[in-house]
Amino acid sequence: MSKTISHPFLDGRPKRLLIGGEWIEAASGETFDVFNPSTGEVIATVARGGAEDIDRAVAAARAAFEGPWSEWKPFDRQTLMLKIADAIEREFDDLGRLETLDMGAPVARTSLFKRWMLQTLRYYAAQAVSIKGEVLENSVPGSFFSYTVKDPVGVVGGIIPWNGPLITQLWSICPTLATGCTLVLKPAEEAPLSALRLAEIMMEAGLPAGVINIVPGPGHTAGAALAAHPDVDKIAFTGSTATGRKIVEASASNMKTVAVELGGKSPDIVFDDADLDIAIPGAAMACFNNTGQVCYAGTRLFVQRGIHDAFVERLGAFAKTLRVGDATDPQTQLGPLASQAQLDRVNGYLAIAESEGARIVSGGGRPAGAAEGGYYVEPTVVADVSNSMRIAREEIFGPVVSVIPFDTEADAIALANDTDYGLGGGLWTSDVGRAHRVSRKIRTGMVWINCYGVTDPSIPYGSAKMSGYGVKGGPGHIEEYLYKKTVWLRTG
Ligand code: ADP
Repeated sequence: MSKTISHPFLDGRPKRLLIGGEWIEAASGETFDVFNPSTGEVIATVARGGAEDIDRAVAAARAAFEGPWSEWKPFDRQTLMLKIADAIEREFDDLGRLETLDMGAPVARTSLFKRWMLQTLRYYAAQAVSIKGEVLENSVPGSFFSYTVKDPVGVVGGIIPWNGPLITQLWSICPTLATGCTLVLKPAEEAPLSALRLAEIMMEAGLPAGVINIVPGPGHTAGAALAAHPDVDKIAFTGSTATGRKIVEASASNMKTVAVELGGKSPDIVFDDADLDIAIPGAAMACFNNTGQVCYAGTRLFVQRGIHDAFVERLGAFAKTLRVGDATDPQTQLGPLASQAQLDRVNGYLAIAESEGARIVSGGGRPAGAAEGGYYVEPTVVADVSNSMRIAREEIFGPVVSVIPFDTEADAIALANDTDYGLGGGLWTSDVGRAHRVSRKIRTGMVWINCYGVTDPSIPYGSAKMSGYGVKGGPGHIEEYLYKKTVWLRTG
């Protein structure tokens, strides 16, 4: 256990599972260690949930769904959500720092999550009192009244990755609470702590037992058991495309509905008429933000040939200015990668890049002065990449941007769409006609023009192709936690 970290949640006591309002050991009695990516030190030990724990959690979620929670009025659920938001507002500094220690996102980044979390909870709280059905005229002979109501789908399984759990978990917690569903949340083993602490905060704010259950554990046991569970009505999954496919297959067992937000290899296009003073830092951070561990990161950077060489040089110079270091240092712009496995993966791809004939222009190594046990890699610009190379086709999930030249607008569109994925996309231009034209042609869930990665809870966040389906945020998200029921009444 780390001697150097001081955090009220990291008190040396093993962290447990939250099932039915009780903090309990895993049925197996097993635990796993959580590491601080900035130093490699163990900071906590957590109960390792497995299939039996998932069974218990689903039973608790079902009991809560059918119990007093089902009598809570929209206003009651809204009030609870607003109380949770107020509690997060008070507790955020410790919560944000826990995320930093858990997965290595710099405090400069996690501190921005406060506004985002509060806005998300309060936006969905507003939606809790806005659920409505319709009265529909029918033409059945006689006298019949027909209308629809929206009911909660039931028990939801939330499976989230490690790259930003504080945010990702709210994408299932908020619609669950707004609609009256219940939730079994399985955080990733690499970063389970913020979910456990947030659950404590929610319980203190009045969350009833069993409405939200937290079972950290391995994907192939706890995750797989949740995805296949016959008493789970819906899975909300965020993670890799390979695992997403398994989730969809497992859902067939009881026809549960599924929302899957998966990987990406997002294109970012810089035209020669772009304002480069904005486009260079913008395109760099489109990829390097969160040390590249963002599903919609702009990792394939298409640059028009006339400006390509100068652009690459300036991009490389910009990358060198970024301060990489311990995530708890307020000056740090890029923290470590989240785990040793992720560091090995990124280094593996850098070797592949060189073996494929690409050229590392900037970065590619371990930053000078980086703490020995931490999982650090420099932000890396790779040039002489072609769109068919593995580094341009496979998701690396690290701070590695591949620069690819193009000639015409049509070429840029074709290259951008030549990928299995369809999550994010960006373009930089000062021609407004081109901006609209190209944005319509790029087949992705989101396109950013002269900016990248802007999100807001009230604006939908979706995906296309093998980046998945289902939408987060915006007015449509809670619809996925509701089902429409038609009611017929003979009136005469
Ligand atoms: P990554 O490679 O980024 O860790 P994964 O898709 O493997 O992405 O992980 C995302 C989440 O899915 C994690 O919580 C992980 O434990 C879980 N997971 C992994 N494998 C499975 C599986 N077979 N079934 C259900 N969940 C899984």
